[in-house]
Amino acid sequence: MLQIDGSRGEGGGQILRTSLALSMITGRPLQIQQIRAQRARPGLMRQHLTAVKAAAKVCGAETEGAELGSRTLTFRPGAVQAGQYSFDIGTAGSASLVLQTILPPLMIAGGASQLTLRGGTHNMHAPPFDFLAKAFLPLLARIGPRVQATLLRHGFYPAGGGEVAFAIQPASKLSPIELVDAGPVLRRQATAIVSRLPVHIAERELETIRRKLSLARHETSAHVVGSAGPGNAVMIEIERPEVTEVFTGFGRRGVPAEEVAAGVAGEAARYLAAGAPVGEHLADQLLLPLALAGGGRYRAIGPTPHATTNVETIRRFLEVAVEVEKVESDVCEIRLGTACG
Ligand code: ATP
Repeated sequence: MLQIDGSRGEGGGQILRTSLALSMITGRPLQIQQIRAQRARPGLMRQHLTAVKAAAKVCGAETEGAELGSRTLTFRPGAVQAGQYSFDIGTAGSASLVLQTILPPLMIAGGASQLTLRGGTHNMHAPPFDFLAKAFLPLLARIGPRVQATLLRHGFYPAGGGEVAFAIQPASKLSPIELVDAGPVLRRQATAIVSRLPVHIAERELETIRRKLSLARHETSAHVVGSAGPGNAVMIEIERPEVTEVFTGFGRRGVPAEEVAAGVAGEAARYLAAGAPVGEHLADQLLLPLALAGGGRYRAIGPTPHATTNVETIRRFLEVAVEVEKVESDVCEIRLGTACG
C-alpha cells in the first residue's frame, strides 16, 4: 500500500485530491496520513469528505477513515465505472474541487459520464465555474477529453446551494500539448456578479478594474445572479491565441469592493507583465492531465508551492519525468515526459 504524507510541501487538500485520482487510475491502494496538516483546520472537511465518497462511489473503493475531521484515510480502489453520478457537498464547499478528484479517472474511462454536483460554484481558494468553463476545460479538450460544463445555479460561501453539471466524453488516448508563447492579447473582459447584494458593489469593482487595466466600458459587465445566499465575485478574462486565462476576486464581508477588484486586477497585471501563456492556477491543474498524456511543455507564472507539491504527488504514482525550470524572475517552464531534456 502506497503511503502518502499529507503534510509535505503545501500540506493542503491538493495532495488528497491528486492521490485519490491517481489511486483510481492506477488501481494502487493508498494510505494518506496527516491530511491537510498545514491548514488551520486540518483533516477532512465536508468538501474533502465528499470528494473521498465520490471517488469511492465511482470506483467501488473500500475506505477506512472517511469521516469528518479524519487525518488518516485508507483507500482501496476498484474498477472505475463511467455513468451518471450526483454528489451533494451539503455546505458551500467547492464543487470544482470534487470534480478535480473524479474527473481524471472519468475522462479516460470506458464510456461517457454525467455528473451533477451541489455546493459552492464560486469559492475562494478553488477554481470558480467560469475558470473551469473558459480556461481549464478548453485546454483539456485539446489534450483529448471533452467536458461540457453547465452552471445551473450559483453557490457562494457561506450559504452554498449551487449546482453544476458536467457531461464527460472521455478520450482513449491523451495527447501532449505545448503552450510556450503567450502571443497577443485578443480580448479582455471583466465580469462582476452579485447575489442578494446591491449591484453597486459590482459596478464599483468594474470601475476599479477599468482604471487599473485601462479597460473600456464595453469590456466590463455587471450581473445580478440568483443564489441561496449573498455572494460576489469579479472575474477578468484574458484571451490569447492558445489560452484564455480567468482571474477571480471574491467579495468578502468587511473588504471594500475596490480592494477586491484591485487584488484581481493586480493578478491580471502580473500575468500580462510576465508574458507567459499560463497563470499560476492553470499551471498546477495542467500537471495531472499532461502527466497522464506522457508529455507536454508550458510556460507559466511560478512555480508556486502548489505546483511543486503536485509534481511530488504525481511522481509517487506515475513514472513520468517532470522538469520545472525557472526561466525568468516570475516565469517557469514545466516539461513532462517526452518533452524533458
Ligand atoms: P484545502 O487544503 O483547503 O483543501 P488546498 O490548499 O488544496 O485546499 P488550494 O490548493 O488553495 O486548496 O487550491 C486548490 C485548487 O484550486 C488548486 O488546483 C488551485 O490551482 C485552484 N485555485 C485556487 N484559487 C483559484 C482561482 N482563483 N482560480 C482558479 N483556480 C484556483
